[in-house]
Amino acid sequence: MLHEKLDSIYDSVLRRNPGEIEFHQAVREVLESIGPVLGKHPEYAESKIIERICEPERQIIFRVPWEDDQGEVHINRGFRVEFNSALGPYKGGLRFHPSVYLGIVKFLGFEQIFKNGLTGLPIGGGKGGSDFDPKGRSQREIMRFCQSFMTELYRHIGEYTDVPAGDIGVGQREVGYLFGQYKRITNRYESAVITGKGLSYGGAQVRTEATGYGCAFFVDEMLKARGTSFDGKRVVVSGSGNVAVYTIEKVQQLGGTVIACSDSSGYVVDEKGINLDLLKQVKQVEHLRMDAYAKRHGGNVSFVAGRSIWELPCEVAMPSATQNEITGKDAEALVRGGCIAIGEGANMPTTPEGIRVFQEAGVAFGPGKAANAGGVATSALEMQQNASRDSWTFEFSERRLQEIMKDIHGRCLKTADEYGMPGNYAAGANIDGFKRVADAMLSLGL
Ligand code: GLU
Repeated sequence: MLHEKLDSIYDSVLRRNPGEIEFHQAVREVLESIGPVLGKHPEYAESKIIERICEPERQIIFRVPWEDDQGEVHINRGFRVEFNSALGPYKGGLRFHPSVYLGIVKFLGFEQIFKNGLTGLPIGGGKGGSDFDPKGRSQREIMRFCQSFMTELYRHIGEYTDVPAGDIGVGQREVGYLFGQYKRITNRYESAVITGKGLSYGGAQVRTEATGYGCAFFVDEMLKARGTSFDGKRVVVSGSGNVAVYTIEKVQQLGGTVIACSDSSGYVVDEKGINLDLLKQVKQVEHLRMDAYAKRHGGNVSFVAGRSIWELPCEVAMPSATQNEITGKDAEALVRGGCIAIGEGANMPTTPEGIRVFQEAGVAFGPGKAANAGGVATSALEMQQNASRDSWTFEFSERRLQEIMKDIHGRCLKTADEYGMPGNYAAGANIDGFKRVADAMLSLGL
């Protein structure tokens, strides 16, 4: 249910952004939390802060022509949505995936505003990407695509303006090609124009691991708040990309047993605990499907195709693949299977029905805005190091990340308490993130 005033704002978002269902979903989820804030802060409504937050400051759509290895020309569409710059330069990743269209970029950009606010670091919210499918493309094709993408994007970004990074389909290799092209065109070694760079040219320690490590730290805090820990817990992690791999690594270090992970072809169950070296070899080095993990393993491991990984009973679930992968039914199965905590490594992986099921069952639900904020927070630390031409050690960077996640966790709980929703991390994250941005927008004037 939405507060009456918010209902009409939501209606106008639907009307102004037809067909962008993921964006609608993300907006609704935030609006559902902030009703109680409006009662305490009439100045937000008077200045139409919510209406302003729901409208991106700038939306850029561009053509990306490129040539494949056979000489055939392809045309993709590129996007950059510069959503909100009240707290700092627009900040958020680039996603290369065939599902990308304006509605996906806007949902991600909208989430990013609050996530970035929640980190307490000086970064605004933005997101971009392309419907380009990197699957099966050669390294040279990827390079040509990235160069063409940046040939248009460069004029819109800058260390004080808009700072992209990676997301699905964009890792360190792509960031390198993008940065190289920016440098070539502008003749400026502007390190802080993009984050997620390689360590040899201005990247930061722990940035690769940050989203997964951060999510594990966040869940660790949620478990501690309930008087327990990862020790001996059965954990299921969906996905097997960058976020999933480093979530698994940190959960294992914290004493949990990750019994399953997945890709779009299916999931593997390894009751003794996922063998991380083998997983990295199969997914990151050889880029094979998940069944290769089971074939190579030799032990008692099964590969299951075409079913939901959430049918596996576990105590902690960490969805780290993509949006809307945990449905209401999946959530019910997880609750029946004894799940006590969810840490969203991906952005919006749980559907609204799924969130309702978890909250009614009293499961500790760590929303992506809070639980996966470690990635973008470490990006902000990368910008900080670039600005001071410094580079920190792995240990120091990891400690900073852990402190930031602990702080976000504490603030979610405190804010949820303050607004009469104890233990509701989603409400705490939305309200805290919203208030930071809203207050800055008020201060900066219309
Ligand atoms: N794509 C990541 C996210 O969803 C990181 C963004 C960044 O580092 O700017 O938060």
